Amino acid sequence: MIEIKNISKTFHQKKQAFKALDNINLNIEKGDIVGIIGFSGAGKSTLIRTVNLLEKPDEGQIIIDGKDFTKLNSRQLAQERKKIGMIFQHFNLLSSRTVFENIALPLELDDVNKDNIKEKVNELLKIVGLEDKAHEYPKSLSGGQKQRVAIARALANDPYLLLCDEATSALDPATTQSILELLRDINHRLGITILLITHEMEVIKAICNHVAVIDKGQLVSKGTLSEMITNKENPIIKQFLNSGVMTIPQELNKKLQKEPQDGLFPLVE
Ligand code: ADP
Repeated sequence: MIEIKNISKTFHQKKQAFKALDNINLNIEKGDIVGIIGFSGAGKSTLIRTVNLLEKPDEGQIIIDGKDFTKLNSRQLAQERKKIGMIFQHFNLLSSRTVFENIALPLELDDVNKDNIKEKVNELLKIVGLEDKAHEYPKSLSGGQKQRVAIARALANDPYLLLCDEATSALDPATTQSILELLRDINHRLGITILLITHEMEVIKAICNHVAVIDKGQLVSKGTLSEMITNKENPIIKQFLNSGVMTIPQELNKKLQKEPQDGLFPLVE
């Protein structure tokens, strides 16, 4: 459904060229929750931003349901982007608008009938569990509540795809868990495909059914989490797995206890 094909991107700064993405190929099926993991500066944000062409790749194609996004003009792209929600690490809410007004914004921009806006925003508030916060301003909300508002806003135009850029990096572990549960619920109940980037194995383990590992602009692994774990050859994968050793799922941990692998250690209970 979403094909990231041969995507490359070079940034030029102060007469220096820096290749942030180097020939990335990744397919994402409808209904998947795909995690892209990598260290800071690996190219994760740049990659996720090429999917809706916020970042224009130098080479390659983004093909969604057979449509090549790299060939669209700006008016067509603006239209397509409405069906792709995006959430960010720092929520990006407008402080002068209430929760209700923040969520209503994409609908207002789309010239939706006022009565329909009210109904839709109330429905979205219910999905994210913030019915009682509709008339509060962002400054009175916790980080988790702010991210819930941002998620509701991202869902306003009934997207088929949600792009999450380090959506839980600014949150404590318990809040992270609740936001990940909300994302999983949205994926299950609304059938929305999710592509998220993270530098934490915890996030991948919690909700992703596929994972791609990116390092220095290159895709070093893609597949299921167990495929990633059995790919013991790659030093980058080793680093992630070892840094997240306490987070290896139980069934994989049992497998590691039976068949130990270089660089991977089972969790000792
Ligand atoms: P990540 O999300 O994995 O931390 P990014 O995609 O943000 O990585 O960045 C990858 C590399 O590209 C970094 O070295 C970053 O400095 C560089 N980069 C990103 N955006 C720009 C830009 N607009 N101009 C110049 N360099 C950039």
